[in-house]
Amino acid sequence: MSFHSTDVRQKALTLLRGGAKNADVARELSVPKGTISYWKHLDRAKRGECSAKRDPSCPRCDGRHLDEPAYSYLLGLYLGDGHISHCSGHSVPNLMIACAESWPGLLSDCERAMRQVFPDNSVCRVRKTGCYNLKVYSKHLPCLFPQHGPGKKHSRRIVLEPWQQAVVNTHPWEFIRGLIHSDGCRVTNWTTKTVRGVRKRYEYPRYFFSNKSDDIRGLFTCALDKVGVKWTTLARGSDPFNISVARKASVALMDAHVGPKY
Ligand SMILES: [Zn+2]
Repeated sequence: MSFHSTDVRQKALTLLRGGAKNADVARELSVPKGTISYWKHLDRAKRGECSAKRDPSCPRCDGRHLDEPAYSYLLGLYLGDGHISHCSGHSVPNLMIACAESWPGLLSDCERAMRQVFPDNSVCRVRKTGCYNLKVYSKHLPCLFPQHGPGKKHSRRIVLEPWQQAVVNTHPWEFIRGLIHSDGCRVTNWTTKTVRGVRKRYEYPRYFFSNKSDDIRGLFTCALDKVGVKWTTLARGSDPFNISVARKASVALMDAHVGPKY
């Protein structure tokens, strides 16, 4: 968990005041870079120094307003199916989220969230076969998504920083929507039962969430617990990759706040 002692923080500030780079301090003290830049920001503010105005578009470095509901949704999308990478020819990283053509509503929800979280950056749609890739470029992506790192998300620890957890706690439904929109679905199973000699068809709507990362499934179920949605884990093969929401009252809650993809 990202709890750092005042000792570590003091060490970081001493290095920063001495002119060390954020990235170097982060590496040396094993603290996320986003946390280092946040400490630096607070330290400067406390000492009455203005932050450098090189790129005034970051809630973490410059303390500008963050649209929290939009961020909570975008965080869900990112953890589910988003990628942060460097394209050749660009010095700035981009966040890419693929949206299937068949869900135009999701495409516009995702695009809106990107614009709300990154109001100073351009968001673009890149047409691919059967889908669009939505991209936003910002050098502050790692500040807002400190879970970015080498390798696949399921092969490393995914832990939210306290400020991210606070946003998710305040806006759990947006986070759940983002995760369902990227790695989940609503399906209708049905069965027949014979009641007093009459065969009847019964339908069971369900929500599924499928992600290989134990940590990401844990964040999802933790948010479900918070809003009172009951869930179970389904084993697929030998790994419990799937979370199911099948109880009537819980499905009704999910329908009211998330609904089928559109
Ligand atoms: Zn930043």
